[in-house]
Amino acid sequence: MNPELLLSRIRVVLCRPTHPGNIGAAARAMKTMGLADLRLVAPRTFPDPEADARATGAVDLLERAKIHDSLPDALAGTVLAIALSARRRDLGPPPGAPREMVARLLMEAEQGDVALVFGNETVGLTNEEIQRCHAAVTIPTNPEFSSLNLGAAVQVLCYEIRMAAYAGLPPITDLLVTPFASPLATHDELEGLFAHFESVMTETGFLNPAQPGRLMPKLRRLFGRTRLEKDEINILRGILAATRSRTGHGRKA
Ligand code: SAH
Repeated sequence: MNPELLLSRIRVVLCRPTHPGNIGAAARAMKTMGLADLRLVAPRTFPDPEADARATGAVDLLERAKIHDSLPDALAGTVLAIALSARRRDLGPPPGAPREMVARLLMEAEQGDVALVFGNETVGLTNEEIQRCHAAVTIPTNPEFSSLNLGAAVQVLCYEIRMAAYAGLPPITDLLVTPFASPLATHDELEGLFAHFESVMTETGFLNPAQPGRLMPKLRRLFGRTRLEKDEINILRGILAATRSRTGHGRKA
């Protein structure tokens, strides 16, 4: 199934959130990963300017968020619900690891709507809420400090979901493409650069042709580690040409 359709079937349910800022952070975490269906069970304060501020560009998710009186209401119509719990519970399903549980979530999203259920900032999920879920997830953490901020926990799960939905290769935005990149240099352009280096280094006395040592192989290795672009070759050759003219070895000399 198309990844976007799968992502649209995933609800993020926040049970009794206390801080509106965390609701905003959760909306932002969801939108960055392509999720959109936010459900709030009895939020203490919502809507709230603090939620809007923390959501920044994800205010549309807050506007569309549905508010429910109880968890069963928020889960109506879903085929699977997974609880997020920072600690082991006596009652409720045994906790699994995020990746394994996200794989199950996406598999079941092929059948219908599914939900991730997050707890209150102070007390987490109640036993009753956990028992409404089919499975539980604990994000592995430092055993001595295991509780993530609510918004951060939503982010970790949404990222795992996106990775799994796109089989590890989500399309990346063109923001990552360097705007001033030039085409890659060709083999002969690189050879031209090395020849230029060799002659300027010889003329300036830095390289002794009788005892060249490993200088040229080292320079080849240095530039081989990076993928030089045409513009970069031009800059380096420009520097070499300027050096040559200042040292009296320029074309006019
Ligand atoms: N003190 C609470 C934690 C509240 S953090 C407790 O001990 O349960 C708010 C919510 O973020 C949690 O209810 C849970 O849904 C989620 N969360 C935080 N850290 C988590 C972790 N390590 N693994 C899974 N969920 C976590």
